[in-house]
Amino acid sequence: MTSISPEVCIRIKEARRKAGISQSILASEVGCKQSALSMFEQGQPTKLNTEVVEKIAKKLGVDLKPVTEAEKITPVVFSPHEGFCPNPKCPSNRPYQVDGKTLYQPDRVAADPMGGKYCAICGELLERRCPNCGGIIHAGAVCSFCGEPYIVSA
Ligand SMILES: [Zn+2]
Ligand SMILES: [Zn+2]
Repeated sequence: MTSISPEVCIRIKEARRKAGISQSILASEVGCKQSALSMFEQGQPTKLNTEVVEKIAKKLGVDLKPVTEAEKITPVVFSPHEGFCPNPKCPSNRPYQVDGKTLYQPDRVAADPMGGKYCAICGELLERRCPNCGGIIHAGAVCSFCGEPYIVSA
């Protein structure tokens, strides 16, 4: 039995999108629930059994071998008293332009010493996971799991 890494989940998600197949269609073809496939694609390999994953991989032409160093995602691990600030105006976030859009590179910020939930700089409620899909945070401005930016400009 192959153990599937979270990076392989992303590889499968990207291959499915490229092939233009929706989660529900793929799920019905391989015999799993769309909800399980969705969670799998968000980096939870245990949501599908190996047999189903192998069927999907074969269908999409995805290699299930462990990923190379370059493909590895290093999660940002927050302590209980920090997170990132989803407020685009907060000075903790560094804006930059890509294709005419403003993206923000989130930075690790300390939470207020009292509640431990709010940005110590601007007072916004801190996030520790992707606000869109709940995926782990890693370096960069855009979530690798759902493709949405971590911080949406106003
Ligand atoms: Zn802030
Ligand atoms: Zn996400």
